[in-house]
Amino acid sequence: MADSARSDRESMEYDVVIVGAGPAGLACAIRLKQMTPDINVCVLEKGSEVGAHIMSGAAFEPRSLNELIPEWKEKGAPVSVAIKEDHFMFLTATKAFRLPTPPQMRNHGNYIISLGNLVRWLGQQAEAMGVEIYPGFAAAEVLYNDEGAVVGVATGDMGIGKNGEKTDQYQPGMELRARQTVFAEGCHGSLTKTLIKKYDLRKDACPQTYAIGVKEIWEVKPEQHHEGRVIHSIGWPLDTQTYGGSFLYHAENRQVYVGYVIGLDYKNPSLFPFGEMQRFKTHPVIRKTFEGGRRVAYGARALVEGGLQSLPKLSFPGGLLIGDTAGFLNVPKIKGNHAAIKSGMLAAEALVPLVANGGGAGAECIAYADGLKKSWLWQELYKVRNIRPGFHHGLWLGLINAAFQTIGGWRLPFTLKNHADFAQLKKAKDSPKIEYPKPDNILTFDRLTSVALSGTMHEENQPSHLKLKDPAIPIQSNLPLYDEPAQRYCPAAVYEVVGEGTEKRFVINAQNCVHCKTCDIKDPAQNIDWTVPQGGGGPNYPNM
Ligand SMILES: Cc1cc2nc3c(=O)[nH]c(=O)nc-3n(C[C@H](O)[C@H](O)[C@H](O)COP(=O)(O)OP(=O)(O)OC[C@H]3O[C@@H](n4cnc5c(N)ncnc54)[C@H](O)[C@@H]3O)c2cc1C
Ligand code: SF4
Repeated sequence: MADSARSDRESMEYDVVIVGAGPAGLACAIRLKQMTPDINVCVLEKGSEVGAHIMSGAAFEPRSLNELIPEWKEKGAPVSVAIKEDHFMFLTATKAFRLPTPPQMRNHGNYIISLGNLVRWLGQQAEAMGVEIYPGFAAAEVLYNDEGAVVGVATGDMGIGKNGEKTDQYQPGMELRARQTVFAEGCHGSLTKTLIKKYDLRKDACPQTYAIGVKEIWEVKPEQHHEGRVIHSIGWPLDTQTYGGSFLYHAENRQVYVGYVIGLDYKNPSLFPFGEMQRFKTHPVIRKTFEGGRRVAYGARALVEGGLQSLPKLSFPGGLLIGDTAGFLNVPKIKGNHAAIKSGMLAAEALVPLVANGGGAGAECIAYADGLKKSWLWQELYKVRNIRPGFHHGLWLGLINAAFQTIGGWRLPFTLKNHADFAQLKKAKDSPKIEYPKPDNILTFDRLTSVALSGTMHEENQPSHLKLKDPAIPIQSNLPLYDEPAQRYCPAAVYEVVGEGTEKRFVINAQNCVHCKTCDIKDPAQNIDWTVPQGGGGPNYPNM
């Protein structure tokens, strides 16, 4: 029996196990089956159904879908709203100035999609080919053999009570064993971070950097709806030292997808990402779109921004990293879906010869990184590698550098470095306090009303999945130094400081968590460990 096996758990054997049914994981599963129909592939998904935890913009570049399923149109993929107009604006508090759309952000040939619906469709395609998909099962633990190679994953035990005791509902987790395990957990995967540490995968890479995206779906008045219109903005409400901006995508059925993305390298601990998004909607030019409309969905999720220089080593004995959990998003394009799909396909193409004829158990699939370096995805990310780090010194220098990189500066043989987001926060006493207006409950809302629209549910009687390495840090250190920023960066109001004076306590309302992972990334003391809750818990996004 292998090292991490537990005698009370049942186990199932596959050729390949994939953790995460996002675009990366499903593309990998589909490509494996296309190449070797009799391969056994299993996909685990922590959401209650495929798509339940998926959140994206999304302006979708179909390049890799064309490669994966060339007949996607005939097969009814939910990719139908062609982008007709691109607008790029700089906002001040009262005005909007139209700027030329940067080349990377032009969307000719792209579509406005709900990624949640696209992965539901990809899930159906995969199942029709014989892939086994298990939604509602979170991979909670990586399994290793005695040689230290990955041999699969285990799902969490169900029915463990708040204090760690077994309840009547107790069921031990399952072991899903495989010759190769592919981690496709999306941005800042909870198992991926343990693998990065165990195998020191970031030894030759910069720290990963991130942003938080807060999104709402609105049903707007017919006269405010322009199907196929894409608007991006920079500037207000952010200051020029904070990286970020908005998106407004006019989708089908009179829906507008509106979101605000803020780099998690922000410095001011009083910044409140959710509050910035609410403020953005009140801009005189923006608010018209929403007046008389109705908000129908809410969600939040971190996204990767580090680019090529932050990609960790992608393989280790017995497994691979694909999609956002590795970090393939193209930041200047604000697009990661085509990259996630492509990386999943490249992983599959490298895995098939390795696992053919029963081989490949615990082996390292180095062919994946080799194939990636020969692909268009590598070229694409190489060209933009110096754009995002150029914004480290503010918006204006960032824009000048971006223009320079785009006209050929990318050919210069240097790569700018990235710095860890959590280390960028300044002390509260050195930062101006940002005041946020109260919600009007028409255009702007509070976090709890918003979380209600995300359909978030967690079994109440379970240990908190948000673990503090040192429970004293929030009150003893984070509060005096940074006014405990978790109170603000969490888009679901999970963290609160209650009580007065020496009675102050840090409260974690874990049941509200929308699984965005921001706390694990931004806590200045790196004291919060986001682990998976019982499978099926978390948001139930409709068409994010
Ligand atoms: C606000 C926002 C706007 C964006 N806009 C765009 C855009 O306009 N265009 C674009 O191309 N890209 C956009 N992106 C990026 C794009 O959504 C991502 O690049 C893409 O979703 C990455 O795909 P993935 O498969 O790697 O991860 P994900 O889509 O995150 O999927 C990962 C899946 O794995 C599951 N999972 C995670 N951990 C476990 C576990 N331990 N056990 C079981 N299941 C697990 C998750 O529940 C999830 O379903 C945006 C992202 C955000 C957040
Ligand atoms: S607790 Fe952490 S992961 Fe959950 S919603 Fe808040 S910041 Fe995001």
